[in-house]
Amino acid sequence: MARVVIIGAGISGLSLAWYLKALKPEWECLILEASSRVGGKAWTVLEDGFLCEKGVNGFLTNKPSSLALAAELKLPLYPANENSKRRFVVKAGRLVKLPEKPQEFLFSSLLSPLGRLRVLLEPFIAKNTSPEDESLASFARRRLGEEAFQHLIDPMAKGIYAGNPELLSLRYCFPRIFELEQTYGSLIKAMLSLKKQAAKQGKKGPGAGPGGHLTSFEMGMSQLTDSLANHLQGHIKLDAEAVELFKATASGQWRITTRKGETIDATHVVMACPARTAASLIAPHSPALSAALNNIDYPPVTVAALGFSKGLLKHPLNGFGFLVPEKERRSILGVLWDSSIFPNRAPEGYSLLRILVGGARARELAYLKDNDLLNRVKKELQELMGIHAAPEFVRIFRWDEAIPQYNIGYGNLLSCLQQESKHLPNIHMRCNWIGGVSFNDCIANSQDLAKKLAAT
Ligand SMILES: Cc1cc2nc3c(=O)[nH]c(=O)nc-3n(C[C@H](O)[C@H](O)[C@H](O)COP(=O)(O)OP(=O)(O)OC[C@H]3O[C@@H](n4cnc5c(N)ncnc54)[C@H](O)[C@@H]3O)c2cc1C
Repeated sequence: MARVVIIGAGISGLSLAWYLKALKPEWECLILEASSRVGGKAWTVLEDGFLCEKGVNGFLTNKPSSLALAAELKLPLYPANENSKRRFVVKAGRLVKLPEKPQEFLFSSLLSPLGRLRVLLEPFIAKNTSPEDESLASFARRRLGEEAFQHLIDPMAKGIYAGNPELLSLRYCFPRIFELEQTYGSLIKAMLSLKKQAAKQGKKGPGAGPGGHLTSFEMGMSQLTDSLANHLQGHIKLDAEAVELFKATASGQWRITTRKGETIDATHVVMACPARTAASLIAPHSPALSAALNNIDYPPVTVAALGFSKGLLKHPLNGFGFLVPEKERRSILGVLWDSSIFPNRAPEGYSLLRILVGGARARELAYLKDNDLLNRVKKELQELMGIHAAPEFVRIFRWDEAIPQYNIGYGNLLSCLQQESKHLPNIHMRCNWIGGVSFNDCIANSQDLAKKLAAT
């Protein structure tokens, strides 16, 4: 009988076990988790009445996987309120609202008249036919112009990847946008065509943003991972860091050793852990794959959660929050006005803000000592939002390896993985460094692997 051992109890590992149990209840399935909790980057804490997300804020409903999993677990959703549609970007030290609809771009002060005109030329720009991997920055400059890149695309790269758009690969970070250019030759033409097709079916076409509605759970994102863990009781081993992987028998069985010295045999091993861990486990069996995995960049991000008495804030906080383009030369990546979109995130009379610092272009800032970090953050909140009050609640959460960067050259890792997998029977990889970083992608990829494994 198959015995699947999954390394890592983040959403990738947990959802994989969930789907495997549904498809193959007779199989043995065990998750090894290095830490003393499940959830990985999904980690909600309730302290002094503030419900803080250390990592994942929520998921978008434009993809079905998180919604479907929540429905299977019978978890009621907690959608963000209408404020979540109002997003801001900093321009020349002020917050400017991002257009919600494509036509609003034409009147938005985010771009100068010339910058807007340049965007309108987009349908006349030839599509990229080079087989070379193109960076997000190069794509955006080529199709939309420098201004749109700086004020729209650069902050988007920060918001999703805390990344550097000069390095992020368009094809692997935003495969849908890559496909749209390849299929329609232009993003504007693609949008018009998709709108037309949608209208024919009585549906709404794509908008200006990523689409979908930001959604979470009343007690935060940990509610989903905790619920999965409850259903998987007896199948998760905490404080069980996998440190070694070797072939146990000539028949191809694998054996895993944990830091505590336990050994666990498996017919199938799934690495649902960060690339660095996978690299170290796989090194004796495939030095090439190990090296490729070690090449994935994971910049650090620090999250400062600050609670303010509402009476002391002059700012209306009537939106999702804001992102800061690189051009603005600020210390922070962006600010999420959590309690404005999920009102129960702060106690009555208070607001909760989460400020993100660090990422691919400002790693050193993520490592600032608490006090230095807070001083920088407070100065920027003062300058950008007019907040002079001192926060009454302060928590700082640090991720040394936050979000994997699908940088130029990422395709080499995929080729190497494909090549080396031939010599690694029944070893699989499923984590956010492959197939998408979003919660939705992690769940969809795990479901896909569960189906493949069940079919073998
Ligand atoms: C600050 C931040 C905010 C984010 N916000 C969002 C958001 O709003 N929406 C969204 O869609 N995505 C968001 N993301 C991305 C998303 O959180 C992740 O991509 C996703 O949660 C990753 O899940 P995972 O299971 O693939 O990996 P992880 O969550 O990293 O889980 C990996 C697990 O493996 C364990 N592990 C590591 N080594 C070993 C070992 N040797 N043995 C056993 N176990 C091991 C770890 O302890 C961990 O539990 C955010 C990420 C960060 C950092």
